[in-house]
Order: sequence, then C-alpha cells, then structure tokens
Amino acid sequence: MRSHARVVIVGGGVMGIGLLYSLAEEGWTDTILVEKGELTSGSTWHAAGQCPSFIADYNLAKVHAFSNDLYARLESMTGEATGWHATGGIRFATNQLELDHFRRVEGVAANIGFRMQIISPEEIRRINPFVTTEGVLAGAWTLDDGYVDPSSACNAMATAARRLGGTIVRHDRVLGIEQLPNGEFRVSTEQGDITCEHVVNAAGCYADRVSAWLGVTTRFANIKHQYVVTGPVREFLERDGEIPVMRDPYCSAYYRQEQKSGLIGIYEGSDTQEAWAEQGGPAWDSSNELFEANYDPIMPYLERVMERMPIFADAGIKKVVNGAISHTPDSNPLVGPAPGVRNFWLATGTGIGIAQGPGCGKYLAQWMVHGAAEINMLGMDPRRYGDFCDQAYASARAHREYWDMYRLIPPGEERPEGRPARATPLYATLRAKGCVFTEGFGWERPKWFSLDGREEDGTFRRNNVFEVVGAECRAVRERVGVMELPSFATFEVSGPDAEAFLDRLCANRMPRREGGIVLAHALDDRGRFLTEFTITRLADDRFLLLSGAVAYRRDLDLLHASLRPDEPVEIADVTEAWSTLIVAGPRARDLLAKLTTADLGSEAFPWLTGREIDVAGIRVRALRVNYVGELGWELHVRMADVVALYDAVWAAGEAFGIADFGLYAMNSLRMEKAYPGWGVELTNEVTPVEAGMERFVRLDHDFVGRAAIVAAKERGATTHLVCLEVGATDFDARGGEPVFAGENAIGVTTSGGFGHATGTSLAFAYVDSGFEVPGTGLEVELVGDRRPATVLARPAYDPDNLRLRA
Ligand SMILES: Cc1cc2nc3c(=O)[nH]c(=O)nc-3n(C[C@H](O)[C@H](O)[C@H](O)COP(=O)(O)OP(=O)(O)OC[C@H]3O[C@@H](n4cnc5c(N)ncnc54)[C@H](O)[C@@H]3O)c2cc1C
Repeated sequence: MRSHARVVIVGGGVMGIGLLYSLAEEGWTDTILVEKGELTSGSTWHAAGQCPSFIADYNLAKVHAFSNDLYARLESMTGEATGWHATGGIRFATNQLELDHFRRVEGVAANIGFRMQIISPEEIRRINPFVTTEGVLAGAWTLDDGYVDPSSACNAMATAARRLGGTIVRHDRVLGIEQLPNGEFRVSTEQGDITCEHVVNAAGCYADRVSAWLGVTTRFANIKHQYVVTGPVREFLERDGEIPVMRDPYCSAYYRQEQKSGLIGIYEGSDTQEAWAEQGGPAWDSSNELFEANYDPIMPYLERVMERMPIFADAGIKKVVNGAISHTPDSNPLVGPAPGVRNFWLATGTGIGIAQGPGCGKYLAQWMVHGAAEINMLGMDPRRYGDFCDQAYASARAHREYWDMYRLIPPGEERPEGRPARATPLYATLRAKGCVFTEGFGWERPKWFSLDGREEDGTFRRNNVFEVVGAECRAVRERVGVMELPSFATFEVSGPDAEAFLDRLCANRMPRREGGIVLAHALDDRGRFLTEFTITRLADDRFLLLSGAVAYRRDLDLLHASLRPDEPVEIADVTEAWSTLIVAGPRARDLLAKLTTADLGSEAFPWLTGREIDVAGIRVRALRVNYVGELGWELHVRMADVVALYDAVWAAGEAFGIADFGLYAMNSLRMEKAYPGWGVELTNEVTPVEAGMERFVRLDHDFVGRAAIVAAKERGATTHLVCLEVGATDFDARGGEPVFAGENAIGVTTSGGFGHATGTSLAFAYVDSGFEVPGTGLEVELVGDRRPATVLARPAYDPDNLRLRA
C-alpha cells in the first residue's frame, strides 16, 4: 500500500465513494479510500435506494439533482449495472399547508431544472391504480428520480473513480489519525501508515469515533430504520411497468414496487424508535450488520399503508430489513471542514445518503480542490454546531427529525427538544413577557412577543402574527424598541500587528480613529465571501470583531488559520462573556440620556462609532450601529449585567412607549433598509461585485482575494443582487422563489418579507445581467402565483440614512 497520498478518505460507503469519484473528476487522483470491510458494508448496502428530488432547500435540491443525474448515466459510463429505476415519485399533500409547500417546491424545481407536476387524486390513481387517495388533496409528481441498488451503484461509482486514478483499499481498518507538526496527517491502518495532506471522515455510524482521534466532536444519532418486503403481489405480476415511489405523510412511510413485491419503509414516532450504539459507538467488527425485525413500533403505520395499498395486504411479509442510519439534529448532512483542525473534512451524518452521497461528494470535492463549492454549503457545514450540541441534544433532535421525515414542519413551528441549549440570564424575564424564542447556534433569541397569549398559526401565508410584528416594527420606527441579541460571535484581536493582520484579512480598511466602526468582509482567494465582521477599533492595537451566531466556529478557525507564524497578534474568543441589547428608534437617545451622563449627541457620538460608557451604572460597549436602520445603539454588556441593564432600559423607556421586538420584526426592518444578510445574500457563491457591496472593498491595500476582485470588476458580473418590491397579496417571499422575465427564469430570491413601515412586500434576489437595472419589471413566483416585481433603485426606507445619522 502507498505510504503517502494527498487525500485519505476513511469509509467506503456511498459518501466516501461519492467523494472519491468527484475528487478524481476535479483532478485530484492521488487519493486513497480505506474501508474496514467490503465497500458499502456499513449503512449503504441494505438501503432501500430511493433518491427523491422533491427537496425544498435550494442547495440541497442541487445535491439531490446531481446524484440522480449521475445514477442515471453511471451504467453507460462504466458498463456496470446500477439497478437504476427511473420510476419517479409521488408525494401526497393531505392539507392546504402541504399543498402550499408543493407550490413552493415547484418553484425550486423550475430553477434547478428537475421535472415536477402537482397532480390531482384522479391523476395519482391513473399513475398508480392500486392506491387509495382518501384525504389526499394532491400529489407532487417528480419525474426524474427513482431508486438504485445501492451496492451495485456504489461499486459502479468506485469503478469510475478507480478508472480516473483513485485508489481503494478494502479490509483495512483505520486505527487512528494524528496531525503532524507540519500540518499533514498520519493515518494508521491495519495495513500500515499513510501520510496525507487531507483526511476525510466518511465513517457513517462510526464518524464520531474517527473525529475524536483528532479531538473533534461530531454529534449525531444512530437510529434503527426498517423496511419490509412483501411476498409477490398478484397485481404487479399481471402487469408490466412499475408504480412510482410513494411518499405518504398519513402513514409516515414510503412504499414502492420491488420487482413484483412491495417494499414499505416506516419513519415511526420518536417514543418508539430504537437507537443503536449512540454511546461508545458500534463495535469495530460490525459489518453488513442487520438487526432483528421489530414489528411493534412500525405496526400502526404498516396498517395505514395497507389501507392505502390494499394489494399489499394479502401478499404477506417476506423479509424485514432493519439497519442503522446516522441522523443529525436538523437532518442535513455534515459536509465540509471539521471545526478546529485544518484539512480535516467530514462527509457524513446523512439519513438519506443514497440520494445525497454523489451530490455531497461533488460539492465537497469542489470545496477541497477550489476552496469553495459553487453552491452555498452553510446548511451542510459541520461547523453549524458547537459545544451546545451535546449527545443528549443531538439525540433528542435527531430522533424527532427522523419521525418528521414526511411531516411538513409549518413555518414558525419551534422544536422543543433539547431546549434551551443556551440561554442568557434575561431568558426568564423575556419569557414571562410572552417572548416566543427561536434558536440560533443554540442560543435562545426573541422571535416575536405574544402579548395576548396567542400562538402562531403555521402557514406560508401572512398569519395571525403579521399584525403583531407590524406593531413591533412601528414601535421601532416611531418610538423606541429593545431586543436582546445574545448570539454575536465576539472576538478581540490585539497586539502590535493587529491592524496589519485585519487589513490583510479584510477587503475593507480598519477604522483609523479609536472608536471607529467598519463593516468588513473576509474573502477567499477567488474573492468570494467567507464572513462579515463589524469591527470597532477599541485602541491603537485592539479591535472588537462581531459576526453572526452561526459563523462562530468558522470565524474562529478563519482567524487562527490566517495568522502567520510568530505574528504578534492575539485572538481572544469572548463570545460567552457578552450579550447585546439593541435599543433603536427615534426616542433611543432620549431614553438612554436618562440613564447615562455620556454625551450621546451626534457630534460627540456620531453614527458608526463606539465607546465604553456607563448606562444605569453598568459599563457597556455602546456601538452606534444597528441592523434596523434607526437612530440607536447596540449595548454590548457583560452577561452578568444584562438583566439589570434591560430592567433599567425598560423602566426609562416606558415614558417613550418602549416595546420589545424580535427577529421577525428585525427581518422586516432590515428588508426595508435593503441590508443583505451574511450566509443568505453574502455567500461563498459570490463576490462583492455580484452582491453590490463594492463600497466595502478598498483596493488601496493588499488583502486576500484582492486580485480576484480586480479581475471580477474588469470582467463584470453575470449575476447581480437586487432588491425587489413585490406585488404580493397573501404570501411574501421567503427565499428560493424563482424570478421570471416573461417565461424565462432569470433569477432566484434569497430572502424577503413585508416592510411594515413602508407597507411594501420586499425581496432580495440574484438576477442575470441586464435585469438589475432599477425599474425593470419582473415576476416572482410566490407559492405558485406569479406576482409582479420591480427592481428598486434605493432602499425602500430612509435611503439617505438620515434616521441613522440623526
Ligand atoms: C433500512 C434502511 C433503508 C434506507 N433507505 C434509504 C433510501 O431509500 N434512500 C437513501 O437515500 N438512504 C437510505 N438509507 C440511508 C442510507 O443507507 C445512509 O444514509 C447511507 O448509506 C450512509 O452512507 P455513509 O457512507 O455515510 O455510511 P456507511 O455506508 O455506513 O459507510 C461508512 C463506512 O465507513 C466504514 N468505516 C467506519 N470506520 C472505519 C474505520 N475506522 N476504518 C475503515 N473504515 C471504516 C464502515 O465500514 C462503512 O462501510 C437507508 C438506511 C437504512 C438503514
């Protein structure tokens, strides 16, 4: 066996093989995949092999689309059978919410290019004459998907990878991995050591143990999943052709034809699910392992399937396949860099890996080879989890996710499992006031305030919270609002070379004066967004960096990875020590003036400056910035003082009509100001040139990505971020909706919402060149309904920032 390779992949399931193949396609062939047993002998071999393309998430939909495309052509590429059955699939809608969801996914399909039709119950019964459709409103018929034989398809993919130059070593267990002082890894295996530049953990249910060798925590649950295969079904024997794969929320099941038998898989309730080896991990010698059939948990669901497909009822059960799946707390896979260890990657944590493996491999290979994927990988990035995600949290959430496989989670619904994972001392106070929280990187954050005890109706339409949020917005625009946002990733960068270091990292220059604040973006060497910092100069040699909650692990790694050896710069992570109160609105200054002797006037304390002041006797870092576009301050306060500060702000604010507000209102307010969001508008897919953020790029200094930005400017962008005013009535844009010019899909929305102060429905979208011109008339498809939209020249609210500067 070779003793050196560029990449070692641990694990020969669909995720590892999919990556090996795509790395080779990208030109990296100095690769070795090491598998302890036979290829696919973990979860992959026994999978039912279905590959749905009905996916609402725009980026994941691209992952699935690639897998289906590859499976369909793998046999002709390699000459090896893959068992690809292009049967298509039908998913049932049993209520209006699901039907609305179908219409949203139809929009995703239009953009990504997979065929989908919403069909009537009659049409469903024409395509599958054996199914009953009681209670079914409609079906989402996807025509380009189907199922494969997982082992055959993976072996064909392995053949394709080998032909391109990738190496596979079977029956060789990886025993340990260590990182060497030069950054390379020594991978110890039963057949010898391999030194390599990159290691990928594709170890499926064992991935937590493999990560632990490098000190990385990887959390997921291993859940036993069962499908049954019936005996031969007379009606199938009597006809040619196949029914599509059926996906049915009524039964929490998928069912299809398996040759002339039926195949039925169940996602049972979390109270009856069985976990497998979640503590300590499975035994290393487990291979091709299946568990005893366990009918009890799945029986109630099987009975419902028999109602739906009476032809299965007399066929008897021929076999039960009970195998393990790893499942993450949000059901998305873990694909991307592992936190804290450079060049250690994860390709694991997928509950539907047959459908996702090749696509995950493609985009991870792009990330490894080119520094970024062409799609936004944030939702798959393993660094979306931190220490808050302990095993209890991961298991509770993952088991719930598994159960909800076919249940549509209504917009606004909150998952109670594992919460609160991280709450500040103010949590109880806000809760008592009716705060409805949502979670960001484990933190409980205010979403909206239920002042009359109402609960949010889960719908894609404007709902019973619409007016409540409107009132919160108007309080901020007309009086003053307060909101705790505890979740900023907070770093202090100091030392003699701190400024030079940050100047090198960021496209913007550091503020020259003490107390100056800038918005600064770190870019990769192709000029695409890595992150967005709000940077305040605290002293000559000290800077405060604030970034998004979910960016925390990424930014910590980025800062450390960007340091040169012996560079005299210190990076302190003080995230846990601070919370933030946002006090914003035209009366914000009057309110704070009652609590501080500091001069808050615009001359002494202009917009985009910050300093330490005492508010109600509490030392805070007051930054005159905010994301809502009003006169206001972010008060960064030590955790221990946040309750006292909030109480003082509230008491002083009552005279000015103060109101609590939450993230729903913040979204509305920032849309009116056309403030793009990191991770949503500003992603690894685009540079500041496409995003219209060139005003934050200073070419008068050297920084990572500078050459790429110069080139991008010369080339000109082919896609542009625009803010649209949408002629919406009942639905507002949420992101992922297609944008049309006539019959041509020329863009996609990234986010949206209703601007309550301006009375306008707004959306951000990336559109093709030529359509970014202000005044251009377009259409946005909102839940199946094309609504007129106009490209705005300027933000809908206070385009000259007069309120901010007041
Ligand atoms: C009953 C059932 C039905 C399913 N049906 C579907 C379906 O219809 N569609 C779908 O998309 N998904 C389905 N799945 C899920 C799918 O099987 C998994 O998501 C997928 O196989 C995971 O692939 P993986 O490569 O991450 O893990 P695995 O296939 O488990 O691969 C990991 C590999 O790593 C190897 N390994 C671990 N540690 C080491 C080590 N130290 N050294 C060397 N090798 C190591 C293991 O031996 C294993 O082969 C089903 C699962 C089950 C249980």
